[in-house]
Amino acid sequence: MNQSVGLVGWRGMVGSVLISRMREEGDFASFNPVFFSTSNAGGAAPAFADGAGPLMDAYDIDALAKLPIIVTAQGGDYTTAVYPALRAAGWNGLWIDAASTLRMADSSVIVLDPVNRDVIDASLAAGGKDFIGGNCTVSCMLMGLGGLFRAGLVEWGTSMTYQAASGGGARHMRELLNQFGTIHGSVTSALADPASAILDIDRQVLAQQRDPQLDSSQFGVPLAGSLIPWIDADLGNGMSKEEWKNGAETNKILGRSEADRIAMDGLCVRIGAMRSHSQALTLKLREDLPVTEIEALLAADNEWVQVVPNTKEASMAALTPVAVSGSLTIPVGRIRKLEMGPEYISAFTVGDQLLWGAAEPLRRMLKIALGTL
Ligand code: NAP
Repeated sequence: MNQSVGLVGWRGMVGSVLISRMREEGDFASFNPVFFSTSNAGGAAPAFADGAGPLMDAYDIDALAKLPIIVTAQGGDYTTAVYPALRAAGWNGLWIDAASTLRMADSSVIVLDPVNRDVIDASLAAGGKDFIGGNCTVSCMLMGLGGLFRAGLVEWGTSMTYQAASGGGARHMRELLNQFGTIHGSVTSALADPASAILDIDRQVLAQQRDPQLDSSQFGVPLAGSLIPWIDADLGNGMSKEEWKNGAETNKILGRSEADRIAMDGLCVRIGAMRSHSQALTLKLREDLPVTEIEALLAADNEWVQVVPNTKEASMAALTPVAVSGSLTIPVGRIRKLEMGPEYISAFTVGDQLLWGAAEPLRRMLKIALGTL
């Protein structure tokens, strides 16, 4: 008989992508979904879920505690409010979560099974119960460059990110598009006139971007036609929380201890892309490997990585958010030796952060827990 699985946060951005992937892959055939809501208990379950009962209250600890597995993409505040109460009530089930709240807890595994299936299996065998999705940028980076990391070839690395508006959620995407629209609207007639002076257009655009009336309530400052070199909280030591996650989560995903830690650091930057995060990496390798060997190692690591030849044509065609969004493929390219020495390489990778950066590792973790992957 199929197990019951509680689904919380299924209508948010990550949750919708998760449900749509589960439907695409026919996952619902192998478990009975029980849908919860923080805002609409008693409402109807999604139309596709034949036979599912009405929405349950996502704060009802007794109802949650009846389930052997709970998957949540509801967010950190929900996890903080509900998870401790559930465990305190004696619940001993598996908790699979997209939020960062529990990621670094000793009892948690950060799930990214193409990279760390061994860590996941070891935890399950030892009675581990908490399986948490990783930071989107870190997960996408390891899906692209996992071959070098898992072979122990990376001594240290920097990652300079170009992160899309959707990383902040649905309202952030809307704000970016509204800003583009308002700015364009302010110069439409001048743009239509080929004789108009570009410096006049530029001045008008800048005036619009600096106009306090331009809605930038989500990002705090205008993003359209600009960028924001800070993501997430200020840790007070010059580092953003997003930057801290790079080293902390990479090593945790790889199952590395403090003693064999790989130093990973860099700057995280928000750009005006809609969906899919990109990052430029500098890696110091432990050996002077030929580029062809590096490419072969990366390409062989998992079935989703796609090594892009380091040419202008291929990079422009395949290594962009527009090319990648909506796809599970993780292209990695711009691989070349840097002037600093034969062990120093560059790389550029792009990944749909709602897929490999959020929903897909959770979907696959549920399948592992159910014994179907
Ligand atoms: P979200 O879109 O804001 O959804 C979260 C919840 O908001 C929904 O489950 C829903 O709960 C509620 N909600 C209220 N109004 C809504 C509306 N109009 N449409 C849809 N949902 C609405 O958040 P998210 O971006 O999916 O993020 C969820 C978690 O995943 C967070 O912890 C986030 O940090 C993490 N994460 C996000 C990304 C990303 O790229 N966005 C990547 C990795 C991890 P009810 O149905 O209960 O009302």
